[in-house]
Amino acid sequence: MAITVIENAVAGKRYVSESVRKSPVFNPATGEQTADLPLSTLSELDAAVAAAKEALPAWANMPPMKRARIMFRYKQLLDENTDELARIISAEHGKVHDDALGEIARGIDCVDFACGIPHLLKGEFSRNVGPKIDSYSDRQALGVVAGITPFNFPAMVPMWMYPLAIACGNTFILKPSERDPSASIFCWELFREAGLPDGVFNVIHGDKEMVDGILDHPDIKAVSFVGSTPIAEYVYQRGTSNGKRMQALGGAKNHMVIMPDADLDQAADALMGAGYGSAGERCMAISVAVPVGERTADALIDKLKPRIEKLKIGPASDRESEMGPVVTKQHRDKILGYINEGVEAGADLVVDGRDFKLQGYEDGYYVGGTLFDRVTPDMSIYRDEIFGPVLSVVRANEYKDAVDLIHGHEFANGTAIFTRDGDAARAFADEIEVGMVGINVPIPVPVAYHSFGGWKRSLFGDHSIYGPEGVHFYTRLKTVTQRWPKGIKEGAQFTFPST
Ligand code: NAD
Repeated sequence: MAITVIENAVAGKRYVSESVRKSPVFNPATGEQTADLPLSTLSELDAAVAAAKEALPAWANMPPMKRARIMFRYKQLLDENTDELARIISAEHGKVHDDALGEIARGIDCVDFACGIPHLLKGEFSRNVGPKIDSYSDRQALGVVAGITPFNFPAMVPMWMYPLAIACGNTFILKPSERDPSASIFCWELFREAGLPDGVFNVIHGDKEMVDGILDHPDIKAVSFVGSTPIAEYVYQRGTSNGKRMQALGGAKNHMVIMPDADLDQAADALMGAGYGSAGERCMAISVAVPVGERTADALIDKLKPRIEKLKIGPASDRESEMGPVVTKQHRDKILGYINEGVEAGADLVVDGRDFKLQGYEDGYYVGGTLFDRVTPDMSIYRDEIFGPVLSVVRANEYKDAVDLIHGHEFANGTAIFTRDGDAARAFADEIEVGMVGINVPIPVPVAYHSFGGWKRSLFGDHSIYGPEGVHFYTRLKTVTQRWPKGIKEGAQFTFPST
């Protein structure tokens, strides 16, 4: 198979980086290398930032309604090209076709939201804050801003960032994950076709060197980052110490509490999708199930085991597949390492996915669905984010133990409770110290007109991402107090003005 070279897209043009450093891109379903990704140089970053800076004044001053019209056209082009985009995502990420379509749909929701930018940027006005004095506030673009994104949602997570940032009047530099970079270039083409002026949206590939270049660049005003917690923390610290506005979303270990009164078939089905969908490579995946009471736990395990054994694992090209491979060989080996550690630590391995093989796809990066029971908080399979199709069951004696368990974890991205008891559900939503909570909803990713963000070590920064919080992150507030000469009666005043 021919190996392609993936291009950057800057100032309205695509080009091959001159860098001698390269990173291979693989098809996880087959293990074949499909592309070479040059890791761009810092002088190429300088050129991208210069292009974004040049495009800025005209873009920031364009009436928001006109910016929205381009956004509408972009949304339409995305709608018309979802199948092709899903194919591109699956070919480098490995997720099954329908799951890729789901990611695109949630990304398009964010473009939809950005189409409402004239309304979102409407400021506030107060007449007569003093005698014939009026005051108004509005939100202005920051300038050139950047996004650094992870491999697990190669279209959606960038769309959490650039559509809204651009609609707000900023220009944008995107550095996608080096594992699955092609989706971003495809989206860049569609946005250009929608009429976006050159230099407003730029995609530049790279690794840590490029990330550091972005964080240190004096002309980049703000950076949105999504990825693992150690890198999120590092990126946040480096960016803020350079005076940038930063938001850095990190990793997760999401718990689902199953109360004794829950519908266990519903809970088991929910756990299948939330634990094994996208091979567990979602920051909102449920990786810990917490049944309350021994009877609930035993019954839940009985329901999960046959479901996991029946999981249809395969490549995205087989539309019957429910779960694909994981992203790289190294990641598969890391997941297998965790399963070994769980066994050594004494957890009960109820379903073992380590030896999964698929005929005709022996070199693909598959891991079978794996289930551990009687996991305890000291085990690495509990503490660490495995980011694979491995579900751990931690048994709780009572509701309070489940809450304490969740509160003891360093991550606090999402959580869910399954119950028929409104009182218990309300108490849980009230007291749980986690950013996103589901009640009989396993993956409570907020819709595009709310905002997404975890607590504790799942988010560094003051703003959640997309939605109203995204508008605040990508703009700064200006408040004007005005009066006109006829209103000025008195001479110089030396006391602090008051009404
Ligand atoms: P990652 O942290 O390895 O990479 C994310 C980005 O950081 C990539 O663009 C990568 O090039 C860059 N990067 C990697 N190493 C770096 C380094 N040493 N210095 C500077 N930059 C570096 O994450 P990943 O494996 O691509 O994605 C999976 C992780 O992302 C998981 O932890 C998952 O929970 C998290 N995630 C979180 C959310 C959320 O909303 N909280 C959403 C999606 C993914």
